[in-house]
Amino acid sequence: MSPTPQDAPKRVLLARPRGYCAGVDRAVQTVEQAIEHYGAPVYVRKQIVHNLHVVRSLEARGAIFVEENDEVPEGSIVVFSAHGVAPEVHEQAAARNLRAIDATCPLVTKVHHEARRFANEDFDILLIGHEGHEEVVGTSGEAPANITLVDGPEAVAGIEVRNPEHVVWLSQTTLSVDETMETVDALKRKFPALQSPPSDDICYATQNRQAAVKIIAPQVDLLLVVGSSNSSNSVRMVEVALAAGAPQAHLVENAAAIEEGWLAGVRTVGLSSGASVPEVLVTEVLAWLADRGYDATDEVTHVEERLTFALPQELRRDLRVSRAATSG
Ligand code: SF4
Repeated sequence: MSPTPQDAPKRVLLARPRGYCAGVDRAVQTVEQAIEHYGAPVYVRKQIVHNLHVVRSLEARGAIFVEENDEVPEGSIVVFSAHGVAPEVHEQAAARNLRAIDATCPLVTKVHHEARRFANEDFDILLIGHEGHEEVVGTSGEAPANITLVDGPEAVAGIEVRNPEHVVWLSQTTLSVDETMETVDALKRKFPALQSPPSDDICYATQNRQAAVKIIAPQVDLLLVVGSSNSSNSVRMVEVALAAGAPQAHLVENAAAIEEGWLAGVRTVGLSSGASVPEVLVTEVLAWLADRGYDATDEVTHVEERLTFALPQELRRDLRVSRAATSG
């Protein structure tokens, strides 16, 4: 699109939905409630969600983040992150007598179920996702002998399967919808009998945040996505914005990370945030922009989200028991 005329008022287009999804909200609440119920410290394996602000806030309340179960003292509480874990992580926790609370997002768990089901039917499973991402590591661990990672359309040429007539694709939940379909198209050209998952693996929150960014991207001179660089869905939103016509788009951890130079000649700023980002960080960016004259904000809504998830059952059970004891 052509840039906004230089006499146009400075303004911000705020994408909606943005920020916390149901799975992140549940995971953060899980750690908060676990600390409140069991007392600090509560150990958390990996970043509970991929956002530094969230991790630091939970550390201040008494969470201790570790990389692996063997860093957790025997008998302690450990929370598994929203990205999911391989079955062997549960086994290691049991062997160390840890009390595990699994905060894996139910939409990631759904992909784990699909992986197990197709592996039981001895499919070759082509898992579209990013090498090394925690979610991919967890899903692959469900059926390592059956799963092959496909990291983007350019990886398709090197993919081999045992039986091209018995092959299915699954995906990480936080990918770019468009790039994933490119990868699927390339896979279908190579394996015409390729089957699709029974329902979308890319989750509603990822899809909605990308769709909202696509709506505003052609109307802005600069698009900012608040999110951490290890947050897959946040990084994808920047890519989607650029592909949808934003002349420049940047991922920023917080307001302090915005570079003044990006604002040169900019009248309309687009703003959104990844699914692991608390709204306070967006509010701070809005204040930063308002200080520089971008004080008119219009929210552009793609869809209203109302989904919520119940806390992990092992935590709900303990909370119920303690409430019953208190009221009795
Ligand atoms: Fe769950 Fe999607 Fe949120 Fe990941 S981004 S935690 S899969 S709802």
